[in-house]
Amino acid sequence: MRLPLSLRGQLSLVLGTLALAILALVGGYLGTLATDELYAAQKAAVRATAQSAAELLATELRDREREIELLSLAPHLVDGPLDSARVRGSLDRRAELHGEFAWLGIADAGGQVVQATSGMLVGRSVAQREWFVAGRERTYVGDVHEAKLLATLLPAQPNGEPTRFIDFAAPVRDAEGRLRGVVGAHAHWRWITGLVEGVTRRQHPDSGIDALILDRQGRVLYPKALKAEQVAGAAVLPRLANGRFEGELVFDGRTYLAAEAALQARTSAELGWRIVARQPLDEALRPVRDLRRELVLLGALAAAALTLAALLLARRISRPVEHLARIAERVEAERRIPDFPAKPAAQELGRLSDAMRSMARSLLSTEQELQQANTTLESQVQQRTAELQAANAALEHLATRDPLTGLHNRRSLDARLAEAQALAHRYGRQSGRVHGLILIDVDHFKRINDHFGHPAGDAVLRQLAQLLQGSVRVTDTAARFGGEEFAVLLPELAGAPEAVMAAEKVRTAVEQASFPEVGSITVSIGVSLASPEDADVRPLIDRADAALYEAKRGGRNAVVLRTL
Ligand code: GH3
Ligand code: MG
Ligand code: MG
Repeated sequence: MRLPLSLRGQLSLVLGTLALAILALVGGYLGTLATDELYAAQKAAVRATAQSAAELLATELRDREREIELLSLAPHLVDGPLDSARVRGSLDRRAELHGEFAWLGIADAGGQVVQATSGMLVGRSVAQREWFVAGRERTYVGDVHEAKLLATLLPAQPNGEPTRFIDFAAPVRDAEGRLRGVVGAHAHWRWITGLVEGVTRRQHPDSGIDALILDRQGRVLYPKALKAEQVAGAAVLPRLANGRFEGELVFDGRTYLAAEAALQARTSAELGWRIVARQPLDEALRPVRDLRRELVLLGALAAAALTLAALLLARRISRPVEHLARIAERVEAERRIPDFPAKPAAQELGRLSDAMRSMARSLLSTEQELQQANTTLESQVQQRTAELQAANAALEHLATRDPLTGLHNRRSLDARLAEAQALAHRYGRQSGRVHGLILIDVDHFKRINDHFGHPAGDAVLRQLAQLLQGSVRVTDTAARFGGEEFAVLLPELAGAPEAVMAAEKVRTAVEQASFPEVGSITVSIGVSLASPEDADVRPLIDRADAALYEAKRGGRNAVVLRTL
């Protein structure tokens, strides 16, 4: 059988489970909510990063473009000799001002470099170069390319990568608008990448956000690590007919949140570059993971705290209940009211305690009353029984004794005679024993009465009864036969001589006794023995009576035996 769980266990289980359930629900809800919100927020941040980077690039490119354009319009270029020291000075100054320019130079209308920073490439032809060809017509910003002529003249890149440039160019025309030459500039590619990195690092340090620069065909220009995509010819981003891409992308098996932005300024728009900002999804959602972990921790703590509180609460409840149970057991065992708790822990417990106390009181008092009633009843019964026994004894005495002498009366004698007769009838022959009867009659009693009065006669009869009782055996039955006649039933006699001896003993005792007032008296005694031929007790009495009569006739103060 399963034991019921203790109150303490039940409360702890319920509250602990409840705490966990609530926390799971709230945590799950908050987690989902936080995930959704964070997802949206991170997406917005990624989008903002892409836009910032795109705007910064556009602005910077536009500034450099204007720089070159302004240079091409400088009066000493429009009017003066293109190879003058003054021209070189202005180129050098600009190169110093803008560290991103690796090379600034001027080619004549035929494509031969006439002046340049540090005099690099002067005299060489750039007629075939894209920037020169385009720069003859208009202000130009060109896509990134690896350094060709300059590669050997410039110091190597610190990271060992090939030197890459983007080109700016603008036509130099004279007052009549005829082409005199082309101003060209190579800006380091690392200047561009530095700008993008600056945006991502500055705006979102430690967020894992970085940015890609894609060319018109969607190939990765930057970062270099993603060049593999370019080699494979696969476009990183689908080019959308309208709108910009925003969503999840997979790079190297890792999912990113990504958003696209385009360069808006006119010339750079011609480049067709796109900036894609991206953030690893797991990084983006890390705060949610942290939140979830904190919620789990908080949940475990809350559940533990609630369980502990439940344990304490249950102990507070169950302790007094157990105490009351012990008190109840003591009431049962000791049959008295022990001390009940003075200050109960709660109202209900106080009521329970009061109810138990009054119940115990009423039970115990009822029990006591019952016990008392029992005791009274028992003593009453005992008393009544004793009275009854006494009354019975008195009745018995009254029924069987002679009031004057205290000896058995005639009726009692008759009953014993009948009993002896019945026993003799059944066992007499085997035992060889026989019972006898002696009848005693006071000689000349009338005279005593006449002489000394009836009360004196009564006194004689009483003394005679005492004498008689003293001279026979305990087993013999002495009785008053009637008037001044007495009888003794002698059971279990061996024979007649024994009966005669008993009669003689009585006769002698009377003869020798002295009776106050009266003096001495004598008695005549008739003796008879029972016979198997006797039908009832009557013949035995008759024979004794006859013997008595014979004793009287013979002169009194004598014993006569009469057998069959
Ligand atoms: P005997 O037997 O020797 O022939 O002479 P007796 O005088 O004794 O004659 P009987 O036995 O007939 O007399 C019996 C008398 O006993 C008659 C009566 O007055 C007297 N008596 C009988 N019962 C009582 C009694 O209870 N008290 C007293 N005081 N006398 C009694
Ligand atoms: Mg008589
Ligand atoms: Mg007589």
